[in-house]
Amino acid sequence: MIIPNKPQLTAAEVSELQGLAGEFGVEVRPIQGASQSIFALIGDETNDLLVKRIEGLEFIEKVDRVQVPYKLLSHNNPLSKEKHLINGKELGKDFITMAGQCTIDYKNPNYFYETAQACKEAGADMLRGGVWKPRTSPYSFQGSAKSLDILLEARERTGLKVVTEVMELEQVKLCVEAKVDCFQIGARNALNYKLLEQVGQLTAETDMRVLLKRSIHMGKIDEFILAAEYIAGNGNPNVMMCPRGTQPGMDGYRNYPDECITPLLKEKTWAPVIVDPSHSVGKAKYVPHAAMAAAAYGADGVIIETHCHPIKGMGDDPKQAITPEVLEKLIINMQLIAKNAREIRAAAHR
Ligand code: PEP
Ligand code: MN
Repeated sequence: MIIPNKPQLTAAEVSELQGLAGEFGVEVRPIQGASQSIFALIGDETNDLLVKRIEGLEFIEKVDRVQVPYKLLSHNNPLSKEKHLINGKELGKDFITMAGQCTIDYKNPNYFYETAQACKEAGADMLRGGVWKPRTSPYSFQGSAKSLDILLEARERTGLKVVTEVMELEQVKLCVEAKVDCFQIGARNALNYKLLEQVGQLTAETDMRVLLKRSIHMGKIDEFILAAEYIAGNGNPNVMMCPRGTQPGMDGYRNYPDECITPLLKEKTWAPVIVDPSHSVGKAKYVPHAAMAAAAYGADGVIIETHCHPIKGMGDDPKQAITPEVLEKLIINMQLIAKNAREIRAAAHR
């Protein structure tokens, strides 16, 4: 890991760095935060002469060779100092809400436009809308690229930034082209390292964000953080971690609620934590409880399935989407709980 002594290097400095590393058969990959750039060395970074020569460059602070599992996302990385803004709110200080339909029904786009507007009025900061859908059964509706246009139109109409799930390279490319603001990697793909690599690389050096859900197959928390680190290491450090319930399920809930891992994640990494209460408990009437619990656990925000007419929705919406009326009340309460939780936590002893 190469840490420069200033936020940005000039193109000439980057190419000097790349040329020098190239002489040793090592590649230099920029990792661009909102204000700070750092560089990963891909290849053998243990060569002392290479390290000395890089550290000899007047614009380099140091080469960090400490081998820890996640260097980029750890609190002592310069990236930890970046401010992350969503809808003008600073993550870590303000609590943010992403809301919208599980699935966009391309045959009935007006439901999505209505939901998008209502989410905005309820106080949502980002709009979610599933274009392509992983499903429990491959024979269920798997979404359609036609819905991408509807998502973009809703962004245009509301001014809200949008988040949608991508599952394979073609979808990633389409979303990059459409300048989708946040790429969701779902629970089923959170361990699909090729996809993480592709998303990291294709969104590198942009301000696009990546929301990584926790896979139901992830064991220890480090496995989750390492997957997020891999996206950052492939060029995009704007990653956010999303607990969304895991297995084995708790009787009556869709999955086993795991918003409680938030303080542990925050202790190990600076990456923002956005909890998904919808998929963990899986029923509209339980979702507000899980969402408020996420705020109490210190999450930076939530992503909540919301629909104006859940019963007419697709995918998960009929059973787990809340209405914008509930969302509005919930946002007020989550913000209050998050603020109180931060204050009490700051006063807590260790
Ligand atoms: C979703 O967000 O609609 C979804 C399918 O999420 P997950 O990957 O968490 O199941
Ligand atoms: Mn869903």
